[in-house]
Amino acid sequence: MPQEELGYIELEWTCENCGSRNPGTRKNCATCGAAMSARNQFELPAQQERLTDQDKVARAAVGPDIACPYCGTRNLGNATACKQCGGDLKGARAQSSGGVLGAFDDAPQAEIKCATCGALNSARAAKCQSCSAPLPRLKTQAAAPTSAPAPAQTIPRAWLIGGVIVALLLCAGAMFLLFRSSDARATVDRVTWQRTIAIMAQMPVRDATWQDQLPSDAKVLGCELKDRRYSNSPEPNSKKICGTPYVIDQGNGMGQVAQDCQYLVRDQYCSFTRLQWSVVDTVTARGADLNPVWPALALQNEQKEGNRAEEYRVEFVSGKDRYTYNPSSAQEFARFRPGSQWGLKVNAFGSVMDATSAE
Ligand SMILES: [Zn+2]
Ligand SMILES: [Zn+2]
Ligand SMILES: [Zn+2]
Repeated sequence: MPQEELGYIELEWTCENCGSRNPGTRKNCATCGAAMSARNQFELPAQQERLTDQDKVARAAVGPDIACPYCGTRNLGNATACKQCGGDLKGARAQSSGGVLGAFDDAPQAEIKCATCGALNSARAAKCQSCSAPLPRLKTQAAAPTSAPAPAQTIPRAWLIGGVIVALLLCAGAMFLLFRSSDARATVDRVTWQRTIAIMAQMPVRDATWQDQLPSDAKVLGCELKDRRYSNSPEPNSKKICGTPYVIDQGNGMGQVAQDCQYLVRDQYCSFTRLQWSVVDTVTARGADLNPVWPALALQNEQKEGNRAEEYRVEFVSGKDRYTYNPSSAQEFARFRPGSQWGLKVNAFGSVMDATSAE
């Protein structure tokens, strides 16, 4: 995702020696004079403010400071000799940089109350204007503490186990009923069959797709602009979308404000119709004998035959009970001559599982 630069802010650092906050460009602590060590990290300032001073902006772009290997003094990234001791800076280690310090937020921050004298100070101040006591770092940058989530309602373990056992028993019971079969002797009382053929024709079917993916035979009904994809550069019908600006440590007391942006590209999405083979009619033949036939098919122009379906049904009588069986093919159906005797396997739901000739 392309990154855009929105300017620079001055960071700050906290003195390891006395705990005072100092502006990022200061090399030595304003309170105790200790030098900022290479270990020490830059932080977001209490009050973020975009730099307008072009000298400071130019300085920010120089790159991370380098620490003198002889005396530890921070030098500008383009220095060749230490400004403190004159030592050669070739090969010296640069201050760490490139880390994201947090979100950019230049909204005015609340005033800080001095813990020593109670005076109110601007969020920008590192020291109390009234008594010069060091002011603590504002905590507003930290995430607001979230209250611990309420414990979820838990189902007692014993109930859970009990529920599982009941479910298993019910399941086993159903399987038992399904597979328990009883034998019955029965007579074929009635046979019926039904055969169906679908009739297909080319019909306009509605669909929708992107304009550049329309089938060649599509009849377009209408198009509208819709969000389609993201691009790294502006394109026709695109809208720029940027994430929250953030601050990147430059390693020299400055932070670069940046944001990631992309372009949401809209495109024409069209609804259309196109001819597709569809079922327009069915013809059916029915009978109550053992000689099923396919229905006569009279196709008109531009029509064709579709799927064929067949269904067979045998009704048995056994004393006061009646059973139904559906043979899977015409060959099997042909065996059930009305009046013939059969041995049936019947499950607990009254369905015939198997039929054997008893003659
Ligand atoms: Zn200090
Ligand atoms: Zn030095
Ligand atoms: Zn004070």
